[in-house]
Amino acid sequence: MIQCPNCNQTLPDWVQSCQFCGADTKKVVRPKPVKKQVRVGSGYSNPALIWGLYYFFAAWWILDGAGLLFLSQQVRFFSTFLLVCGTLCLAFGLGLILRIPLIRNIANYIAFIGLIGYVLDLFFSFLMMLGMGWTGLLLALFLIFNICICGAQIWVLGETDGLD
Ligand SMILES: [Zn+2]
Repeated sequence: MIQCPNCNQTLPDWVQSCQFCGADTKKVVRPKPVKKQVRVGSGYSNPALIWGLYYFFAAWWILDGAGLLFLSQQVRFFSTFLLVCGTLCLAFGLGLILRIPLIRNIANYIAFIGLIGYVLDLFFSFLMMLGMGWTGLLLALFLIFNICICGAQIWVLGETDGLD
């Protein structure tokens, strides 16, 4: 806000003349916009929450792995495939907990691929889901949920980069 040099009324920054007395306000000095502080990452600084989410995702990987290993014992087909996937998921979860940089990078990469995959899924199956009624809505919500999970995981991995 600026002040009229003639009548001292408060005026918006952009006015060229006073709306009350008509005085020329082009030469009145405008307040400079306050520069925002430059911070690392998104600037969100709540390490407790970020690390909480980080370990939540690590636990998620481990649970996923345990679930796949359990499933591999129950099915006749794909059991070797499930066993390998389950073991990889478990290893990833442990790697995240131990904060192994390579695992963190790969997890970031996988989350990114997943994010793109789910977004494409949502995009291409949207019309199909519209025709499916409630099932379609649930499927859409499931995809959106997964998009959020992947996005949150990428965010958390980025935020915990260089944090101790
Ligand atoms: Zn004025």
